[in-house]
Amino acid sequence: MYNELSKFIRKHFNQEQGLIPIHRPLFNGNEKKYIIDAIDSTYVSSVGSYVNQLEEKICTYTDSKYAVAVVNGTNALHLSLIVAGVREGDEVITQPLTFVATANAISYCRAIPHFVDVDKDTLGLSPTILKDYLKETAQIKDGFCYNKKTGNRISACVPMHTFGLALYIDEVVEICNEYNIKVIEDAAESLGTLYKNKHTGTFGLMGVFSFNGNKIITSGGGGVIVTNDKNLAQQAKHLSTQAKIDHKWEYSHDLLGYNYRMPNINAALLCAQMENLEVFIENKRNLSDLYFDFFSDFDNVILVREIKESRSNYWLNSLLLEDLDERNNYLKYLNDQNIMSRPVWSLINNLDMYKQCPKSDLSNSMWLEKRLINIPSSVC
Ligand SMILES: *Cc1c(COP(=O)(O)O)cnc(C)c1O
Repeated sequence: MYNELSKFIRKHFNQEQGLIPIHRPLFNGNEKKYIIDAIDSTYVSSVGSYVNQLEEKICTYTDSKYAVAVVNGTNALHLSLIVAGVREGDEVITQPLTFVATANAISYCRAIPHFVDVDKDTLGLSPTILKDYLKETAQIKDGFCYNKKTGNRISACVPMHTFGLALYIDEVVEICNEYNIKVIEDAAESLGTLYKNKHTGTFGLMGVFSFNGNKIITSGGGGVIVTNDKNLAQQAKHLSTQAKIDHKWEYSHDLLGYNYRMPNINAALLCAQMENLEVFIENKRNLSDLYFDFFSDFDNVILVREIKESRSNYWLNSLLLEDLDERNNYLKYLNDQNIMSRPVWSLINNLDMYKQCPKSDLSNSMWLEKRLINIPSSVC
C-alpha cells in the first residue's frame, strides 16, 4: 500500500528521484516577460502599472468591486481588521485550526482572539457551533455585540477556508449579521474556490488572499484585500501607503500608516500567474480525483473532498487517518521516501501566546489535529 502510494505520486509528478514537496510554484507563462518589462520601466517599487492591472484582474476574477494589493496575506488581514474598526481590547472570533497568521493579525490590533470549533467536513469555522457559542457568550447593546462576561466588544469574525475547501460561509455571515459582527474572510488558501457559485473571500465585508510562494499562485510575497465597500477599500489603500496625502509634490500624512503596498515587480510576476490560475485549478482538481480513485481501494484512509455546492481549488490535498499509528506510519514512510507529507498545524489555542484565550469546546479540531496529513499537491 505505502509502496503503491509512493509509486503513484512519483509517476504523477514524473519525478523518479529527489524531493517531492507538498507544493511548489510553477512559472510557465509570461512571468519573465512581465518582470523584465517592470525592470525596464524603472517602476519596480510600490507605484507602477502592474499593481493597478493586478487589482483589476482580481476584481474581475472574484467579481469584487475593489481590490487592494499589499505585501503579504498577514498584513492584508491586519489592515482589514483595522479598517473594519477592530480596536485595542476588542474580541475577535476565529478558528483554532488555521495558520498562525490569522490569530497574529488579530493580536497586532491588540484584540483578543476567541477560538470557535470547526466542522469535520469543511475543516473551517462551524456555523452551528458559532451560533451556540454566541448565544452563550454574546449580547447586543446599542447595536454592538459585547462579551457578557468581559464586557468587551466582539467586533469581528475571521473564518478561514482551510486548504482551499469552502466552509459554510453564507451561514457564518448570516449569524454574524444577527450580532452585528463584521466578517473578514481569511481566504489566503482559497483563491478560485467557489461556494454556491460565488468566490470565497467575497461573502463577508472583506476577504483576504495570500500570494506567498507556497500558495496556488504567487508574487514571491504578496496579498490582496477584496471588498465591495468603496470607503473601506480607500482606507485600506491609504493606510498601506503610509497614509500619505495624495499630492503631486507635497509630503504629508494624516494617520498612522504602514508600508504595506505591493511592489510593482511582485505584481508583474502575479499578473502572469493570474493568466494561468484557471488552468492550475483544473490541474489540481484532476489530481484530487486521481487521489480519490487511488484511496478508494483502501478503507482506513479518507481523502478530504469539497462539500456540496462548492468548487474547491484543492490547493492542498489532505488525508484523514482514523488510526493514529497508521497516520504516523504514513508520515514516516513518505518522508523516508523523500516525498513530503506533514501533519496539520498544531492548534493555535495551544500555542504559548494564545493559551489564555477564550474558546468553545474544540472536540472537532482536536480530533482532526491528530488525524490529518497533507500530501504533495503541486500543479504539474
Ligand atoms: C498563507 C496564509 C496566511 C498569510 O499569508 P502570508 O502571505 O504568508 O502572510 C494567512 N492565513 C492563512 C490561512 C494562510 O494559509
